[in-house]
Amino acid sequence: LLLRRAKRKEVKNALENRSLQEALRRASLQHSQKFEQTKNEIAWEELKARARAIREECAKELPELIRAFQEEARKAGAQVHLASNSEQALAAIEDILKAKEARLIVKSKSMVSEEIGLNEYLEKRGYRVIETDLGEWIVQLAGERPSHITAPALHKTKEEVAALLSRHLGRPIPADIKEMVKTARRELRSFFSEADAGISGANLAIAESGTLVIVSNEGNARLVTGLPPVHIALITTEKFVRTLEQATTLIKALVTASSGAKLTSYVSFITGPSRTTDIEKELVIGAHGPEEVHIIILDNGRLSLAKEGKYEEILYCLKCGGCMLQCPVFQAVGGHVYGGPVYPGGIGVLLSTATRPSEDFSKLVDLCADCKKCEEFCPVGIPSGELLLGLKNLSGSRPWEKVLSGIFKKRSLAELGARILAVLQRPWQANGYWRSLPFSRAKGKRFPALKFRKGSGLGEKKGKRILLFEGCLVKFFFPEVRESVSRALSHFGYEVVVPKDQVCCGAPSFHLGRKKDVFSLARANLRSFARADPDFIITVCPTGNSFLKKTYSELLPEASRWQGKIFDFTEFMVNKGLSLEIEASPKDSVFYHYPCHLVNDLKLKDEPPKLLKALGYKPEMESEPYTCCGFCGVFSIRNPELSEHFWKNKREKLLASQSPLVATDCPGCLFQLRAHLKAEESEKRVYHTAELIAQALEDK
Ligand code: SF4
Ligand code: SF4
Repeated sequence: LLLRRAKRKEVKNALENRSLQEALRRASLQHSQKFEQTKNEIAWEELKARARAIREECAKELPELIRAFQEEARKAGAQVHLASNSEQALAAIEDILKAKEARLIVKSKSMVSEEIGLNEYLEKRGYRVIETDLGEWIVQLAGERPSHITAPALHKTKEEVAALLSRHLGRPIPADIKEMVKTARRELRSFFSEADAGISGANLAIAESGTLVIVSNEGNARLVTGLPPVHIALITTEKFVRTLEQATTLIKALVTASSGAKLTSYVSFITGPSRTTDIEKELVIGAHGPEEVHIIILDNGRLSLAKEGKYEEILYCLKCGGCMLQCPVFQAVGGHVYGGPVYPGGIGVLLSTATRPSEDFSKLVDLCADCKKCEEFCPVGIPSGELLLGLKNLSGSRPWEKVLSGIFKKRSLAELGARILAVLQRPWQANGYWRSLPFSRAKGKRFPALKFRKGSGLGEKKGKRILLFEGCLVKFFFPEVRESVSRALSHFGYEVVVPKDQVCCGAPSFHLGRKKDVFSLARANLRSFARADPDFIITVCPTGNSFLKKTYSELLPEASRWQGKIFDFTEFMVNKGLSLEIEASPKDSVFYHYPCHLVNDLKLKDEPPKLLKALGYKPEMESEPYTCCGFCGVFSIRNPELSEHFWKNKREKLLASQSPLVATDCPGCLFQLRAHLKAEESEKRVYHTAELIAQALEDK
């Protein structure tokens, strides 16, 4: 509890820290713009698929790849040291430095060195360690840790960096980025040639040739690995590939995801120490580059992860850092607050859990909004959000989470509660909304009133039958959405049924860490499907859709028989060509709010604008990065401050739009948008797209 409170305080402080907010905003925007531009110039999805396949293949044979790498690297003159944990890696490095009587060490960026606490270890023993990557140098001078994998000083604005450099150098340094880069170049120059050893990380290792691959932009990695007499490279056991071709594909994917560039300024392939055969073809080790190359291969629990089924996917991570810059939570609070003690972001929580099994990182899982943006973005398709949910389910629930899940689990209890509340709310509501009450005023919301309507019985099947899986929010708050879907699909000759034995899909329970409650809910819904025997199952909530389609099949194999019949409503209308048959008259412009799961999970990015156009509207689509509205289900209960922060960003975009209408495809987003806009007395009207279709049909 105390840890959770402390984390909440950190979140609050980060949200109130204006310069952090500005730094994060600038960095995320730059990343997004560059990435989107490059993505459109290359076959990004194809590259992602190839990168994923390579990772899948290599993860299965890591021990063999490491063995082959060692053999080849030794043949090339490198010395390979295996370390199963941080202590062994530190001891190996110290032994090498002692043997060379090294005192001054230059380093290029290495997150593995952060993982093992290398700088503190060496500094305590009297070594002088100089970080030469600009971002790493900045955080070293500030006495901080990196807040991002590839951009360690991302949390600082240029003004803060200038103030830091001025303090360190004892002279005023202007907040001019070009000037600061020149200053770093001048200050660090001499260390490269004076250093006794250079320590680097490595992005990949190629087994067929014993080669290390290091990407960099600044050029410091080349100097660190090329000028000092000894080069020590730190690499972890998941970074091994078999061939040069595999490595180049992964490097392309890594660089584009990391910075939106097609390739970095430098890509170094290092195969053993420098050498020459220029005089009589006699081989001499140690020419202009290092005469010794030591490669420390650190495991820290990774190889055992490779045997743990789903969690193996954590090992695919290329450490590009792109997912963090796309993650709404990271964008809101930065990597010092969201992530593990070393690796930031959602993947950082997963990596920390994998590499520090004795520590409990479950409290960090609660910060994930499960928007799945990281999964959609990741160049190797790591389902970080899903894996984090898996961790939540392993770590267990708090008492209130158990109670809440219990309510979702008991249909009769939830329906009885809704009926009682629907009566009790009467004096407090007006025009379908709760009046402005003190608790809702504080949140700037006017909640939609409860409008519970029961499902219907099943008659004899008449023609093509569609089962509408309405989900809890439509059932209890927005029956108009259900009626719109029924009207629209009936218009096209379908028989629409909404069986009364439907229960909650189970997504809230899963998010509450109560996977065991999901089983009984899933079984009840599968029984309901079997009784109704539908030709199609239509959902109006993307989270529910994904849950019925994917999660049910993972939990219960018998659920897979329904997979091919489940469609999102908008997807069904567009892909079956129904929307085009409406032939609607021209209408106003409409701002479309993308629900996170619709676009990131169901990948239905193109369907909403197609549908809106078919209905005669002028769709106003948000450009990337899309902004989450902050509803986020259980996340908003756990993290009200973050939810409000997301809403503020969304609000800015909504209010900047001239469109009088807002459309969306998720009842959760509908709830959030209506509640906030109502409280603001905005003239904008918010609809589920199903309502717009029903209206268009009525207008004909
Ligand atoms: S999880 Fe994917 S996007 Fe995130 S750092 Fe790893 S490779 Fe990059
Ligand atoms: S699911 Fe969303 S909030 Fe969670 S780590 Fe991924 S991007 Fe961040």
